[in-house]
Amino acid sequence: MQNITLLGATGSIGISTLDVIARHPDRYRIHALTAHTKVVELAGLCARFRPDVAVVGTAAAAQELSALLKSDGVSTEVSYGEAALCAVASGAGCDTVMAAIVGAAGLAPTLAAARAGKKILLANKEALVMSGQLFMDAIAASGAILLPIDSEHNAIFQCLPQPYQRNLDHHGIARIVLTASGGPFLDRAVETLDLVTPDEAVAHPNWVMGRKISVDSATMMNKGLEVIEAHWLFGATHDRIEVVIHPQSVIHSMVSYLDGSVLAQLGNPDMRTPIAHALAYPERISSGVAPLDLTQLAKLEFRQPDLLRFPCLKLAYDALATGGSAPAVLNAANEVAVEAFLDGRIGFRQIDQLIDRVMHAASFEAVADIAGLLDQDRHARQLANSFLTS
Ligand code: NDP
Ligand code: MG
Repeated sequence: MQNITLLGATGSIGISTLDVIARHPDRYRIHALTAHTKVVELAGLCARFRPDVAVVGTAAAAQELSALLKSDGVSTEVSYGEAALCAVASGAGCDTVMAAIVGAAGLAPTLAAARAGKKILLANKEALVMSGQLFMDAIAASGAILLPIDSEHNAIFQCLPQPYQRNLDHHGIARIVLTASGGPFLDRAVETLDLVTPDEAVAHPNWVMGRKISVDSATMMNKGLEVIEAHWLFGATHDRIEVVIHPQSVIHSMVSYLDGSVLAQLGNPDMRTPIAHALAYPERISSGVAPLDLTQLAKLEFRQPDLLRFPCLKLAYDALATGGSAPAVLNAANEVAVEAFLDGRIGFRQIDQLIDRVMHAASFEAVADIAGLLDQDRHARQLANSFLTS
């Protein structure tokens, strides 16, 4: 029996994870569920999954949750705040942590899980993009197991030899090829991009996801963050990570070997596949995903990404090449820009313009520890916010 802490239970990945877990009550037990604002939803999940602990964002949310659980006769213990998130991610009650909080807010608990030597199923790519080497060092020091949930990285993991030594040359690998759907604006006239609304930007053609990652997919910053994520997960330099647009999202990514072989992982676009893969690894379990019917696929297309249409992808490659705190600064500026776009304060094209301004104005430093990293993150957010109001 695996005891699971699910960080971000009320989100898109959280709900898909619970769907897979509910299919296998003989294998998985929920130790903790966390949410930030969706108290009523979390109360419903607690009534269904009966976790030991539930964590929310604030004291007021915790009070509300406690009252709901009491009236439902659910005995789950309730706590709140970052320290409580770290406690449920690192405590003795769990062996596996699904890291599915969105954005930098997920860093502290995911890092706590890494330091505590847990099995980490990583959806929260921003945590790894920000902390990079520090995170991988924590994994190595504690002996934690890190399994990717991002569909592309999970696909790559499945196409790599096991055990994999985080070194392409060691295994005769030429390149890693990340596929990208291109999002909702792949063929929209570039000059009309500034007119798109938040609702249009979050309407992804193939995946149903949270709002932040949906906007990241529309700008292709999501793919940029995934390039940086692939660098850390697989030990690949930026010049050996290629992005190919594949609008059908059937091939989830590929590994290209020196002998000319290209291994790909295919499947319907449904996050329950990588979630089930990582939960059960190295075994295989059913996920509820419909089998892929190859005869129903009209065609599989591939194109090169247009960096003029998608400047965020180039900004991310540049940040990875720069190194140090540049990816953390990029991530922070992106989070501020996406939030401003979703709030209607800036247009769609101003997302990449704002990040570009921050990347030009910021100074990048080697990151020695988490305190230094959080300083850089805070400074980048201040810079981005000052540009928003100037
Ligand atoms: P959602 O927005 O759907 O869910 C985010 C979750 O995080 C919710 O449970 C939310 O709580 C919680 N949360 C938000 N802010 C905070 C905070 N400050 N502190 C603690 N918890 C917080 O996001 P997704 O599920 O789409 O994405 C989660 C992560 O997985 C992201 O990093 C994303 O990049 C990654 N990912 C997602 C994929 C997808 O298909 N959705 C695919 C690949 C990666 P509440 O709702 O209660 O406020
Ligand atoms: Mg992805």
